[in-house]
Amino acid sequence: MSMIHDVDPATGEPFAEIPCTTPAELAAAVARARAAQPAWAAMPANERAELIGRLADDLVTHTAEIAQLITREMGKVHKDALGEVQGYAKNVPLELQEVLKAIEPERFEGGASETVLVREPLGVVAAITPWNFPVGMPLSILIPALATGNTVVFKPSEHVPLVGAKLAELLNRHLPAGVLELVQGEGAVGAQLVDSDVDMIGFVGSRATGQHIMTAAARDLKRLVLELGGKDPMVVFGDADLDAAAESAVRHSLRNTGQVCCAVERVYIEDSVADDFAARVVAKARDWAHGNGFEESSKMGPLVSREQRDKVEAQVIDAVERGAALLLGGTTPDGGGNFYPATVLANVPADAQVVRDETFGPVVCLSRFSGDEDEAVAQANDTPYGLGANVWTGDKERGARVAARLKAGQVGVNRYLGGAPGTPWVGARQSGFGFLGGIEGHRQFTTPKTICTA
Ligand code: NAD
Repeated sequence: MSMIHDVDPATGEPFAEIPCTTPAELAAAVARARAAQPAWAAMPANERAELIGRLADDLVTHTAEIAQLITREMGKVHKDALGEVQGYAKNVPLELQEVLKAIEPERFEGGASETVLVREPLGVVAAITPWNFPVGMPLSILIPALATGNTVVFKPSEHVPLVGAKLAELLNRHLPAGVLELVQGEGAVGAQLVDSDVDMIGFVGSRATGQHIMTAAARDLKRLVLELGGKDPMVVFGDADLDAAAESAVRHSLRNTGQVCCAVERVYIEDSVADDFAARVVAKARDWAHGNGFEESSKMGPLVSREQRDKVEAQVIDAVERGAALLLGGTTPDGGGNFYPATVLANVPADAQVVRDETFGPVVCLSRFSGDEDEAVAQANDTPYGLGANVWTGDKERGARVAARLKAGQVGVNRYLGGAPGTPWVGARQSGFGFLGGIEGHRQFTTPKTICTA
């Protein structure tokens, strides 16, 4: 039997073995979800929401246990793991209210008839998720998919199978049998799920996997929501509050050991203040000590896997070979665990891998521009990605102008990105296909249907 070897990324020690779902088991899980779907869809939406909403209390009761699993499986600093569970527990009722609003029937008058627009569930949704926010990312799909009347077959990342299993167990305490099925395994199991008898794939993960899924889904024109990677730029003009900008650049490059889809991945600084800015960044980044996520002193845990660390290490070496200045870190520590130190690169050229490819590691990547607005926008937009972006300037009008020109789904002006509650989470360009959250995001788990009566 094929197994997931669950390894503690802080020590390299395996601590659990989880059987992978076989193709026959996967087909049976999808069939159970298919069979359960009509009754689930027929249940009044508020009753469905009430059952799903019970998860919020369960997350609160099990916060310590889940946070422990998160740090063990993917290395997140324990305080942040607790924060992830608590934050999403709070969010569950709000999101359910929003889904109910999204699927309320709408009435239209015209001519001699009255038309009602209803939003029907698609059927069975495959939820395939990554490891970097092992509670948050699954819930961003499971809640709207289930609350709109779909049943779900959920495959958590192979790096966090126990967190995924715990989430499914908590939800299944309240849901009818078959409404939420769990499968486990690596990418091959995800690919089988995409190929199976599902109607939609809700996916959060890398652009490369998103491309595979889109290709495979084309055969049956399965519906898709793909939330993918990013290469977010930050533009800093000379008149910005440099200290606040440096603080934000460091926090959002290093948070979660840099393993965040919307991490700040490239910082473009106006020439005249670039040295000053770099000095502030280095001073702040020195505080980001790495270590086992269970230790109080750790601000960054290990990277999720050895392969991931190798990729980050290779990008830093490549940048230095191409002429970047290594201002901090950049040396892989000896010993077990996948640790990598807070690293600051300056004067990074545009052709370096760390500027071109998603980094997913604790690197602050600084480059310069002359101060010309067009040049800053051109550099920031020089990527196929389009998840987030931010611009820092003391000139309000320039902030608004540049924000309008940045090709991204979410832009921050003199702050990091992040919309008010109710706004969608959007990856523009190749950072996504469809999107999650907000009324418009929730509706993507449904198909609109008009019924007009004479
Ligand atoms: P990944 O694409 O390697 O894996 C994601 C999931 O897809 C896993 O469950 C994996 O087993 C599965 N999978 C792999 N190959 C598959 C295939 N061929 N068919 C179906 N499923 C397959 O990504 P990851 O390393 O787990 O996560 C990191 C990536 O996720 C980064 O690129 C990050 O930017 C992105 N991400 C995006 C968002 C967002 O909101 N846009 C949020 C979090 C993470």
